[in-house]
Amino acid sequence: MKKHLFAACDDAGIATPHSALRTPQPSAFPRRTLLKGLGGLSLAGLVGSSIEDQVACATQSVSRASQPTQLRITDLRVAVITGAPMRVPLIRIDTNQGISGYGEVRDGGSKRYALMLKGRLLGENPCDVERVFKRIRQFGGHGRQGGGVSGVEMALWDLAGKAYGVPVYRMLGGRYRERVRLYADTPSVTNKEGFATKLKERVKAGFSFLKMDLGTNLLRNIPGTLSRPPGTEWDRYRNPTHPFTRIQLTDKGIDALAGYVAQVRKEIGSEIPLGADHFGYLDVNSCIRLGKALERYQMAWLEDMVPWQYTALLKEITGAIEVPTLTGEDIYCLSGFKDLIDQRAVDMVHPDLATAGGILETKKIGDYAQEAGVPMVMHFAGSPVSFMANVHCAAATENFVALEHHGVDVPWWEDLVTGIEKPLHQQGFARVTETSGLGVELNLEVVKQHLARGEECFAPTDEWNARDSHDRQWS
Ligand SMILES: [Mg+2]
Repeated sequence: MKKHLFAACDDAGIATPHSALRTPQPSAFPRRTLLKGLGGLSLAGLVGSSIEDQVACATQSVSRASQPTQLRITDLRVAVITGAPMRVPLIRIDTNQGISGYGEVRDGGSKRYALMLKGRLLGENPCDVERVFKRIRQFGGHGRQGGGVSGVEMALWDLAGKAYGVPVYRMLGGRYRERVRLYADTPSVTNKEGFATKLKERVKAGFSFLKMDLGTNLLRNIPGTLSRPPGTEWDRYRNPTHPFTRIQLTDKGIDALAGYVAQVRKEIGSEIPLGADHFGYLDVNSCIRLGKALERYQMAWLEDMVPWQYTALLKEITGAIEVPTLTGEDIYCLSGFKDLIDQRAVDMVHPDLATAGGILETKKIGDYAQEAGVPMVMHFAGSPVSFMANVHCAAATENFVALEHHGVDVPWWEDLVTGIEKPLHQQGFARVTETSGLGVELNLEVVKQHLARGEECFAPTDEWNARDSHDRQWS
């Protein structure tokens, strides 16, 4: 009988109230406490189990916070917020056991990238993270189009962690670090003295890694700094990629940008790592000339100097300058990174987890890069939900260097979440939490205060329930 009971609950645990999912469960429950607790439980996941099975499961020494193999996805809803600092569609995936998982579409992405997956997710077990991910992977793409699949993947891990009562990093193989180094992004302004002072404030706040913008927009009102075909307007450069705009830096332009960095370095010193981003639409030769001019300022990296798709051009730049290069925030899945890594076209990779395919895929990108001796920096500009997905991934990936934080100046950014010790980061580091799943719940009052125009807070999405296509990609 005893053998039968243990076999019956081999893949089933005891369902607990939602509030009990916030902390890891002890390795053994006092029998009296559990029997007392049974009266208040949601029995949704226990239908079909005898009371003997339930008691046997409750008293075995294995800790479980839910019934993982019986867990099923029942709903997917969204709430699009704005000003965080970007526009971000938050995702909530509900289950048949009363637990919900959170994720988010990449900042600036469409909520529809997640909603279109709903019909493919209903009825699935969210604990089968990799299998479900592979099923929906075909509906993601580079840039913001990766946001739906990646956001759902975050929510699956959140659910799996809550179901088993462990933090996400534990399910990725454990952690390499107890805290995660952040790099603070700081958009530049034309007043270089004012900008340098702002960066110094970041250092005073404890950040040990910084990033600035260093683009042609800083030269817009300085005559003689750019060479470009007469008659072309700035806005027309938005769609052609860099090589086709024929914008070149003049000597004066290079001196101006180098002078901007010199002012910053004068203020913050030369020791703290400082990356640079958003160069604008420069040709490869200008990138190389600028890179050489910046060598004396000890830049941590030059980011996305040309679009990531041009592997050969990036390799040419990387080989010509003695400043590290990186790219990757718009690349979907490991397959998109392999050529860059295999060819050593950049010195570091820079995936955005909310585009790259989520937590596990980003770890795979890091692990693949590590085999080639390439470090991984992580791009991030979302809410605390995606932030924690990044923190767990960073904790579990050995070649990780630093994680971006784009919301340092948003006063209510941390108020979006509850259930986690605050502040989420201190002295330039994020804490790796021990709470189940991603470790955060949403503060709906704050979410409602920052909904994007015309958006609702996790309203029903029944119109997305149907799966109306044959999705197999081969015949
Ligand atoms: Mg960037």
